[in-house]
Amino acid sequence: MALPPLTTEMINSVIEQQLDLWPEARDNFFRLRETERRPMIMGDLSGAVQHNPARIRSTGAAVDAASVAARPCFLCAANRPSAQISYEWPDRWDFLVNPYPVLPVHFTIVSKSHTPQAKIPLDMAVMAESAPDLVFFFNGAHAGASAPDHMHVQAVLKSELPLVCLAETFHPEGRHGFMSSAESGLDLPFIFISAVISPDTDGMRTLAAIHNAFGTDADTGDADHGLLNAFFWTGASGLLRCIVVPRRRHRPACFSAEGNRRFLISPGAIDMAGITVTPRHEDFERLDTDTLRTIYSEVGFADCLPPPIMKHFGL
Ligand SMILES: [Zn+2]
Repeated sequence: MALPPLTTEMINSVIEQQLDLWPEARDNFFRLRETERRPMIMGDLSGAVQHNPARIRSTGAAVDAASVAARPCFLCAANRPSAQISYEWPDRWDFLVNPYPVLPVHFTIVSKSHTPQAKIPLDMAVMAESAPDLVFFFNGAHAGASAPDHMHVQAVLKSELPLVCLAETFHPEGRHGFMSSAESGLDLPFIFISAVISPDTDGMRTLAAIHNAFGTDADTGDADHGLLNAFFWTGASGLLRCIVVPRRRHRPACFSAEGNRRFLISPGAIDMAGITVTPRHEDFERLDTDTLRTIYSEVGFADCLPPPIMKHFGL
């Protein structure tokens, strides 16, 4: 089934149809209403921490090559539950309601072919232009993706992600091209790159640079297209906007620490955007801003971006 441009009514109707047909998704959706959430202010990022036990399958996912190869791919159409409705939107993608939502409107958009998470897919720009209520986000293969073997992106309401609101505040739409959060003097636990994409050849160059963006591996120093998170949405004046968060690690040290020092937190795009998901209640209760700043600084770049990344964006 093909979908037209995604209006607010269409978004609500897709969710309603899916929840009517799929009891497990419906249960998870209603449970989301009862999840505990508290504010987590880190400088200029007004985030929140959410206790969400159903997300353990994503946070705790074994993403090493052997584990991924040994399991059936849960994003391939042949392995998806029969109750899961699939809409073709846009071409070559399946648009699905996420059965383990972090936010009440939460979609997963899955490539029709089983190809790995590689560079940032520019089809996200097409999606963002056709669904102005939503922000589309991408977890690089080494930056939060729980299915690095199958290309997919996710979408939530753009009003729900604090990082999107922050980018709109400090980067005016009149300033086309890239801007680093560091140059704005914001107090943030990690640096990100914001883009305003004009509908001309400069905008095409901006998109090409986003597609080829990379992070830097903390251990080897190597550039890695899988070490980043990216967000696309339509801004207030109708221009396409993007955020790229260059990363240096997939997971923080506390993820594999012992005893009290262990926090089961594996930041993906949604966490970097200010919604930190803790599947375990003990982590929800004791997580404080200092610990979260440490987590962000271990997976992202807290003080400055490596020169090759700055050069890539012309900053
Ligand atoms: Zn697959």
